[in-house]
Amino acid sequence: MNEFILRFPALSENEVFARNAVAAFALPLNPSLSELSDIKTAVSEAVTNCIVHGYRDGAGWVTVTCRAMENRLEIEISDEGRGIADVEKALQPFFTTLPGEERSGLGFTIMQTFMTDFSVTSHEGEGTTIRMGKVLGTGAVRDVG
Ligand code: ATP
Ligand code: MG
Repeated sequence: MNEFILRFPALSENEVFARNAVAAFALPLNPSLSELSDIKTAVSEAVTNCIVHGYRDGAGWVTVTCRAMENRLEIEISDEGRGIADVEKALQPFFTTLPGEERSGLGFTIMQTFMTDFSVTSHEGEGTTIRMGKVLGTGAVRDVG
């Protein structure tokens, strides 16, 4: 087992940093290009949610914890922001609390679709934690080219 913990301010430029850090960490698990792309997209959606919803573009910290098992990657992404009042509702496709601001309400749906498993824990006023895992190893990026 290998793992890392990354903690950074909720700034939009750190979304690219976080998704590439997770992708680089996942490489020894021999992900396929499409698996790697799925992971990056899921991390990107989760981190963006912490920034735009958790802190509503205000200040705060985002924590990304990542574990690599033999053929499985586990990712935990959390904020200590506003939290979600009704998680079940928030998970519905096209549900968004920021309509008309380039948000389509599909972030959670994308995370659920692209990862093997997914769960949300949230408490209003305390923050939100996303846990997701993906079974990997159907291809090998490092063998390409
Ligand atoms: P999109 O992801 O398509 O840009 P969205 O962010 O609104 O739109 P989801 O990512 O599915 O859609 O999230 C649904 C809703 O859940 C959000 O509109 C927001 O109300 C709530 N939410 C999600 N993540 C958080 C978070 N970290 N903190 C507080 N609320 C959140
Ligand atoms: Mg979103």
